[in-house]
Amino acid sequence: MQKDCLFCQIIRGEKPADFLFKGESLVVFKDIYPEAPVHLLIVPRIHIRSINEVTDKDKEIISQMILKGQETAKDQGIAASGYKLLFNVERGGGQAIFHVHLHLLGGWR
Ligand code: 5GP
Ligand code: ZN
Repeated sequence: MQKDCLFCQIIRGEKPADFLFKGESLVVFKDIYPEAPVHLLIVPRIHIRSINEVTDKDKEIISQMILKGQETAKDQGIAASGYKLLFNVERGGGQAIFHVHLHLLGGWR
């Protein structure tokens, strides 16, 4: 947990968010500036800066995030029509919040 990290603060309940799921190792909440009809963020409770910092010990949480993306897409009714699961990595890759997270985007007509 990092004191000044926005996503750590959301996970600790210090900042509000619209949660769809709170689990032991990860949470899912709505993106505040949605870029698609469905735009959710799948966020591990542990603080990892970006995909660049992921190591072998993080294999389980990263695969849990992807499986949660798949499950959430089904729950949202967008699995069959299709969706994107996206990691932005570091500033040049569009990352603005430096706590690793997986975007789930979909629901286009
Ligand atoms: P990144 O660009 O780092 O991959 O994605 C960060 C995402 O977090 C952005 O899509 C942005 O809209 C979202 N975001 C930024 N601040 C907040 C916030 O306070 N609450 C929520 N729910 N989402 C946020
Ligand atoms: Zn954090």
